[in-house]
Amino acid sequence: MSPANAPDPNLTAQAQWRLAQIVADTYERSKLGGLLYLFGWAVVALFGQMHQRAPAWALATGVGFLVAGLWRWRFRPSGPAEPARLRAYLRNYGFVMLLSPVLWVVAQVWLLRDPRFDDTTQTVALIATIGYCTVFANVYVTTRLLAAAGVATMFLPTLAVLWSDPRHLAMAVTMTLYGVYLVGATVRSHADYRRRLRLDQQLREQSDRYEWLSRVDPLTGLYNRRYFADQLDQSVALAQRGDAVLMLMIMDVDHFKRINDHHGHAAGDACLADLAARLQQAFAGRDALLARLGGEEFGILLRGIGEQEAISLAERFRRSLDESPPQFDDTRLAVTVSVGVGAFDAARDGNGDGLYREVDRALYRAKDLGRNRVQRVASAEAQ
Ligand code: GH3
Ligand code: MG
Ligand code: MG
Repeated sequence: MSPANAPDPNLTAQAQWRLAQIVADTYERSKLGGLLYLFGWAVVALFGQMHQRAPAWALATGVGFLVAGLWRWRFRPSGPAEPARLRAYLRNYGFVMLLSPVLWVVAQVWLLRDPRFDDTTQTVALIATIGYCTVFANVYVTTRLLAAAGVATMFLPTLAVLWSDPRHLAMAVTMTLYGVYLVGATVRSHADYRRRLRLDQQLREQSDRYEWLSRVDPLTGLYNRRYFADQLDQSVALAQRGDAVLMLMIMDVDHFKRINDHHGHAAGDACLADLAARLQQAFAGRDALLARLGGEEFGILLRGIGEQEAISLAERFRRSLDESPPQFDDTRLAVTVSVGVGAFDAARDGNGDGLYREVDRALYRAKDLGRNRVQRVASAEAQ
């Protein structure tokens, strides 16, 4: 793997993150809210002496609130965070969420119209309605439509009943004024929520970007030495548990200084970028981590392939440079590389540094033997 084919934060990913965040926030903010209606109803039932006036209805309504509240709480998001699934979840959750307000407003209208209920009971119910609408306008504002639907569901029928009965005129006026506030509050809270979401997203993008920059070599787009060293340590820890074969290659361009001297530094840079692109091609489809270790030196960590296969991959790469040399401004750059290759051997290497030392030694042997060659780490007996 190299940064070029590692997941890069792009627009689609950002939109998806945003949607997933809206889903998570919607559920987290409202998951227990359905049960509040049950408590509200218990208070109204108690002060309205429902056990005498309409016990069966009161109980059925209470059970309705309990079921709606539990359903909402149990309707938690799950499964993969794909946009289509997230959107469908949000839609369905919206319907589940609106069950309690629908039930509440039916009960509210009944209480206001039934002369058996006194002012106190009606006032308690109206205060609860104000509370539930306020929660929709201030807390459940992750999607404006849902917040508006919740407020409208409870508020508009209540308002209509109040205005239709002269006895409730004072309450009708008060509630109308409060309704104006609710509209403003919904709009403002929704804008605040979106602003916070945007800020969170920007922070996340920045930290992703910094993390990305801290891992990548800007000239070649390969990973840098620090990230490579971390990965080497982690891969060695896995290999020590016997989970996988681990190969390390270190590749150094031969007499690279001459390319700079003969063709200029820009040609040297282009040559390094070209070599990096070729390495990515040569190791595409393998479990390989490619890095520029510094200057004109590259590191390759290979998992899941044996020494012979690694050596033949390195040989093929070395020969390919001869067959089609890198070019700069129509000039062919005669480039060869020397490569050290070795598999992690716990007894010999001990840790990642030990393996690196051995492979680096093999690389210098390749240089000593005349360059342009692949050299494996000498076996323990030969050392
Ligand atoms: P050897 O075969 O022994 O490795 O010889 P060499 O010339 O490749 O090695 P040496 O270490 O003597 O020189 C490496 C050169 O690489 C020197 C330096 O100017 C050049 N170099 C290092 N980083 C860059 C870079 O980012 N761009 C360019 N153009 N040149 C670089
Ligand atoms: Mg060199
Ligand atoms: Mg070097």
